[in-house]
Amino acid sequence: MPATRPPSVDALARSLLDTGLPHPLRVEAARAAIATGDPTAAASQARRLSRRLLQPVVNATGVLLHTNLGRAPLSHDQEPTSTNLELDLESGRRGSRTDHAGRLLALATGAEAALVVNNGAAAVLLALAALARGRGAAVSRGELVEIGGGFRVPDVMAESGARLVEVGTTNRTRRSDFEHAVGDTDADVALVMKVHQSNYRITGFTETVSVAALTGLGVPVVADLGSGLLDAACPWLADGPPSWLHDEPAVRQTLAAGADLVLFSGDKLLGGPQAGILVGRADLVSACARHPLARALRPGALVLAALQETALAYLRRDGDAIPFWRMATVPLEVLAQRAAAVATTAPGWSVTPTAAVPGGGTLPGVELASVGLTRPGDHTAALRAADPPVIARVQDDATVADLRTVDPVRDEHLAAALRACGS
Ligand SMILES: *Cc1c(COP(=O)(O)O)cnc(C)c1O
Repeated sequence: MPATRPPSVDALARSLLDTGLPHPLRVEAARAAIATGDPTAAASQARRLSRRLLQPVVNATGVLLHTNLGRAPLSHDQEPTSTNLELDLESGRRGSRTDHAGRLLALATGAEAALVVNNGAAAVLLALAALARGRGAAVSRGELVEIGGGFRVPDVMAESGARLVEVGTTNRTRRSDFEHAVGDTDADVALVMKVHQSNYRITGFTETVSVAALTGLGVPVVADLGSGLLDAACPWLADGPPSWLHDEPAVRQTLAAGADLVLFSGDKLLGGPQAGILVGRADLVSACARHPLARALRPGALVLAALQETALAYLRRDGDAIPFWRMATVPLEVLAQRAAAVATTAPGWSVTPTAAVPGGGTLPGVELASVGLTRPGDHTAALRAADPPVIARVQDDATVADLRTVDPVRDEHLAAALRACGS
């Protein structure tokens, strides 16, 4: 190799102009290439940086609510604009950011009031801080669990300033256990909390206390449902509740059973953006909204706009407008037809029956019959390199791209990606 001087960072960065990356990122790519001793690698370093940007991917994993892929599928495309986030257009006075999505979700669940925060964990933190700081919060020992991603109920309680009052045993808790705790003046119980066993089940010699049985103890009942199934009757689905929902607790029915406050995520079975939602008694919601932490946990207009879309779809009973429900309920024949069409343009890939799952730490053990494309060997890296990236899974030494989690508008991208790594 001739002993030429290496190009300057500046010259290299200029050579990356057509990557569309802003100057500081082109400089980072140029520096990285020079640091490896191979300036010709600048373009591939720039590609590496592009691929770290947040971008659409095709979810072909068969996991509908895939945590690494942002749980519920979401699209947003918004012109630069101001919104009436906190303006009452009627009076011209200051409004409230709970007036849009929050009000609609209260309507959809039959609640007096609602408040939206950044995620489910924030909803639990805020409810406990606002309603039980410095006092006791009674929870069954069977529900002192880790939900996933490091969310441990006892840790969140500790952060909230509420004192955990453990009730019952791991496998069996009765109403009388709660009565005892609430009656103990030293424990100073401010509320009882029921935490849904989202991602695990305790089976065998078990006993739990229903929300209905927790009422009448003289303190508010707070139910952390996590999953956010809005209504067990699923009025937004033409055929009613799918059999795989089993007896997943729903927000409307939990309120009707007597819960004073129900907490759930926006991006699990609700199918909306990442958010945490508190619905229930107006005085309790208002106490949460007034707490100083509410300001730190409040979402912005982008999230509230997306959540409003979701809430409006529920109020219109239009499950097809909610990507999670549309994908979860697509008939198997439709998936089979799409798979056959993709397979004809992707040699080397064959149609295979698969099992998709709801994911997102909901409905453990539930499988949804599905159809995918498969090819022997691990091709996941090549599929991730496609534009947009396709995320598939490896099963029994074969790559599987599951169509239940793929939006049909992406079928052609999927076919192109499969073709590209099939040859
Ligand atoms: C998922 C879940 C949470 C946490 O919600 P995030 O939106 O992930 O923060 C809390 N409680 C329960 C029961 C859950 O299932």
